[in-house]
Amino acid sequence: MTFNELNIMPAILKALSKENYTEPTPIQEQAIPAVLAGRDLLGCAQTGTGKTAAFAVPIIQLLTEQKTTPNSGRKIRSLILTPTRELALQISDNIKAYSQYTDIRCTAIVGGVSQKAQERALAQGADILIATPGRLIDLMNQKRVDLQFVKILVLDEADRMLDMGFIHDVKKIIAKMPVKKQTLFFSATMPPEIDKMVKSLLVNPVKVEI
Ligand code: AMP
Repeated sequence: MTFNELNIMPAILKALSKENYTEPTPIQEQAIPAVLAGRDLLGCAQTGTGKTAAFAVPIIQLLTEQKTTPNSGRKIRSLILTPTRELALQISDNIKAYSQYTDIRCTAIVGGVSQKAQERALAQGADILIATPGRLIDLMNQKRVDLQFVKILVLDEADRMLDMGFIHDVKKIIAKMPVKKQTLFFSATMPPEIDKMVKSLLVNPVKVEI
């Protein structure tokens, strides 16, 4: 299997080739066509399996292909929620690499660092926002983030967000987004609380297990 056979657009193929990704990993083979087809996804995969590209590549492609109204400004059309700052910054670096030959812009907002630079980045606009729940809630409360145009939501390492006590924040964030959206849900384990979230959030999901 090649990335080309997964119907990935030339601008992303060029970036993947530059990153020396020669062939998709198993999770990428399974997830990319499902996400491109607009399906919800439930993934039980650990970091290290190529999970990031499995959701990021089709998101970049869907957002690039989506018609946007001229002059309406850049709106956040995809939100990626992740438990830790390190993971958020890693995802952001990966998305920047995969989208380098497209018009997609992404930014990360994480806790533990000054908010000022993140406020400026948000004011400039981004298509994809990668965030840890606590800082995102702060910025939402200050009306610096608008999630009403989100079309694709990613919950990464959902079980870790539960363990770290973020689940209440995550639910509050989800309540500020349109109900009609595509949701990609990743969790290494399925404790009852996570299972409940999966059932309430995902519609007929494609299941991917590695
Ligand atoms: P992840 O599971 O997304 O954290 O990815 C683990 C590592 O594998 C990262 O360093 C990625 O850059 C790399 N990677 C992901 N997909 C591929 C691929 N198809 N070919 C080569 N390396 C990859």
